[in-house]
Amino acid sequence: MSRLVIKNGRIVDPARNLDRTTDLAIEEGLVREIADRIDTTGSEVFDASGLVVAPGFIDMHVHLREPGFEHAETIETGSRAAAAGGFTSICCMPNTEPVNDSATVTSYIVDRARRFAAVNVYPIGAITRNSAGEELAAIASMKQAGIVAISDDGKPVMNARVVRRAMEYARAVDLPLIEHCEDLHLSAGGDMHEGRQSTRLGLRGIPRSSEDVMVARDLILAELTGVRYHVAHISSRNSVDMVAFAKHRGLPVTSEATPHHFALTDENMLPYDSSYKMKPPLRERGDSEAVTEGLVRGSIDAIATDHAPHAGAEKMQEFERCPFGIIGLETAIGLALERLYHPGKVPLSRLIQLFTENPARILSLQRGTLRIGAAADVTILSLDREWTYDVNRSPSKSRNTPFHGRAFRGGPVATVVDGKIVWRADALS
Ligand SMILES: [Zn+2]
Ligand SMILES: [Zn+2]
Repeated sequence: MSRLVIKNGRIVDPARNLDRTTDLAIEEGLVREIADRIDTTGSEVFDASGLVVAPGFIDMHVHLREPGFEHAETIETGSRAAAAGGFTSICCMPNTEPVNDSATVTSYIVDRARRFAAVNVYPIGAITRNSAGEELAAIASMKQAGIVAISDDGKPVMNARVVRRAMEYARAVDLPLIEHCEDLHLSAGGDMHEGRQSTRLGLRGIPRSSEDVMVARDLILAELTGVRYHVAHISSRNSVDMVAFAKHRGLPVTSEATPHHFALTDENMLPYDSSYKMKPPLRERGDSEAVTEGLVRGSIDAIATDHAPHAGAEKMQEFERCPFGIIGLETAIGLALERLYHPGKVPLSRLIQLFTENPARILSLQRGTLRIGAAADVTILSLDREWTYDVNRSPSKSRNTPFHGRAFRGGPVATVVDGKIVWRADALS
């Protein structure tokens, strides 16, 4: 019988309103007991004194690049980067080659994940065939094969009639629809946020209206169809306000924000450094403040990384030719502590909720809590351990991050998936 006892940790489980320093026992992959002075005879013991013990963190938006782009990332390497970032579950977007638009591709991912992944991997299926925005993908059979949501992430569904039908279908099969909100006509040719900085750098801009008009359109259609609708990587003030309004009116609308959109603005960009190039682009201070406010007040439900690996050669071209996207799994907790917790903007339980209870609820995952009998996914973190991110030690195959060399206060210390320690920081201080 495999048994692990995590001793003396501060257990914070927002789903159960629990915040108490005590012991946690795990048996056969399940949470068995939370109590003081649990007997450790015959058990593996993890001393969590001075550390926070949380439900396993869930990243509902990553790109694993397998199948098709294994030179940039695989299910194995991406999931190991997730474990090293304190995540126990990740949801992978369908823009692989082939696109995950059928049960065959979904089953392939599920099977590879079962054999090679360090953490739980939940696939997200395409909305439309080949994410081309025209005909609906095989949504019901993908659901049977294991998808937890649909999205054409990277390629917004431009045709409102198609997205309406997709919403009706998603509602019928009880899946959330996740939109990458970008009007491609408004954003065409842009490389960074349209504003003073893009003018100064002489780069073509992506206006925030390209995000806002899609959020507005989708919220109208979400109300019409009753779908559970989720805005991916929200980044503009207007979009945050519109989502707040939709929630206020009782619509089943949710949203997520990335760490880079609340930690950076277009003023932080190093000129022509492609590790600052992503979609949506880094916006202005007012937008990043709105994202932070949304996380504080509840119009934004989850923090998701949009981990988007690109191999070195792809990101080494001229800025205009580089693909969009940065990796983010290993820096997410550090950035969230730095920008949200340490300045006192969100209490610890709210911060943990953004990584656990909320994404689990949005995607109907049976994870995200440490209730007795639940799958024993645990993220153990420090609030004050000082460390510096060295991307050259990352298990990810890609190196495209603006956070290499950044010093952090607090971060993940160990990651437990189904009762097994799958990663731990080597030097505890
Ligand atoms: Zn996207
Ligand atoms: Zn994405």
